[in-house]
Amino acid sequence: MDYKFTYDNKEYILTQNNCDGIFFADESEVNGLSVDMVLNALNEGEEVSFSNEYYADKCSCDAQEQINKSYRYLEYHYYIYTKDNEYIINTISNEYKNTSFNKLFGLGKIDDSYIVSVTVCPSCGNYSINVEQCTV
Ligand SMILES: [Zn+2]
Repeated sequence: MDYKFTYDNKEYILTQNNCDGIFFADESEVNGLSVDMVLNALNEGEEVSFSNEYYADKCSCDAQEQINKSYRYLEYHYYIYTKDNEYIINTISNEYKNTSFNKLFGLGKIDDSYIVSVTVCPSCGNYSINVEQCTV
């Protein structure tokens, strides 16, 4: 599964091959989340749009221009819900349209939430997936 999008007239293609990996912040841990599942989610999402984010870390391609001590990336984020650290559902899936965090939480189907950020280098097109626990 690939995911394609266009930004500033440049086409980006996210695949298994140009992904730097899935990184978990702090003590976060989600089992059952793969690169393929993230690419799938992006394809299924109807309002996916990447926007500029700035980080102090430079991509390994070394091609980004430095702007105020930081480097520009293209980023999109969405949320996933888990139960016992296992991935259950994401908020941009068709499956999620007829439910909500409160509903699923009330039914005991989920017990935690995470933000998934897909961060793309605008120069080389490589990207990373960052997962961080967050409260809904
Ligand atoms: Zn790069």
